[in-house]
Amino acid sequence: HKNPVQKAIPKIPKAQYGGRHTVTMLPGGGIGSELMNYVREIFRYAGVPVDFEVLDIDPNSESNDDWDNAITSIKRNGVAIKGNIETKSEQIGIISRNVALRNELGLYVNVLHCKSYPGVRCHHKDVDLVVVRQNTEGEYAMLEHESVSGVVESLKIITVEASERLARFAFNYARTNGRKKVTTIHKANIMKLSDGCFLETSRRIAKEFPDIKHDDMIIDNTCMQLVARPAQFDVLLTTNLYGSITSNVICGLIGGAGLYSGRNYGDHYAVFEPGTRNTGTSIAGKNICNPFAMLNASVDMLNHLGHTQHAQAIEAAIYDTIVVDKIHTADLGGTASTTDCIQNVLKHLAEKHVSCSTF
Ligand code: ATP
Repeated sequence: HKNPVQKAIPKIPKAQYGGRHTVTMLPGGGIGSELMNYVREIFRYAGVPVDFEVLDIDPNSESNDDWDNAITSIKRNGVAIKGNIETKSEQIGIISRNVALRNELGLYVNVLHCKSYPGVRCHHKDVDLVVVRQNTEGEYAMLEHESVSGVVESLKIITVEASERLARFAFNYARTNGRKKVTTIHKANIMKLSDGCFLETSRRIAKEFPDIKHDDMIIDNTCMQLVARPAQFDVLLTTNLYGSITSNVICGLIGGAGLYSGRNYGDHYAVFEPGTRNTGTSIAGKNICNPFAMLNASVDMLNHLGHTQHAQAIEAAIYDTIVVDKIHTADLGGTASTTDCIQNVLKHLAEKHVSCSTF
């Protein structure tokens, strides 16, 4: 279903002890911990040679201990899988742990590959898009202040260095994954300096990749075009906030928050998570959430670690559950529970004789 080989990805060290990888697991809030339990159940069943170091971060804690432990663990292991760590928007002064984590680890790119699952209730069929999103600066610089009473300033930081690195990643990704076109998404008609820098840099890097077509589109029009005719896009190269918007629009068009996974890469570390980064607090603990975004994140993680056979087996079991058996949770218009989905994945693994002793 997906391209099993993750190419154009920076070389990243991975902890491996006695033939097994150790991966940091940050369940986060809401549905995070139940989804992580299912990942562990499936990995245990399939005999995946990965051990998890599970660390809970309390977003409201005054102490930084949880946070320091999590960062130290990821730096030691090189790889993490995570749920969303909730930061309520009214908590002024408390920095989003999700953003801080990406900054601290230098995870400069977020890659979201959205490919339609046939038979899933959706607004568009046959979508196959990749969003390559700047992940550490732009509108997420978190530099806001009230200069005088009633006047708030928020800084959007765009640097040539980060834009260049991201653009090169996007074109390399396109080249090595058989993609034909990169579209830079911007608002350079209004933010002439900041988005202008992002756009100009992408145009300059595009010249190094004459085999890949390059064009650009204003973010507003992109949203309209995505909703009207998504097939015109291939790889979208975006600043941080536009990447979040376009990722959510695309997922909304083809199945919502519960299906697709996102990958975060830097020069040294890789972190895998559900693509739209939702917490799902209101659906937690009810056995109704869709587990596949997190399971797909675990497949991405296995591919990254080089456990491609396990990745393919789990990915095929997910695909068969969604497409062939049509076991769909309520968000996809179905009546299945989360555990129905997991049981069915385990059943497929059993049928293919994928269990502890297979590989
Ligand atoms: P809450 O966290 O209380 O659900 P929210 O607005 O913060 O509210 P998000 O976590 O951002 O919600 O999720 C957006 C929407 O997507 C919500 O309606 C949520 O229930 C739904 N959603 C997120 N993840 C999943 C999932 N894995 N399965 C099904 N629905 C999901």
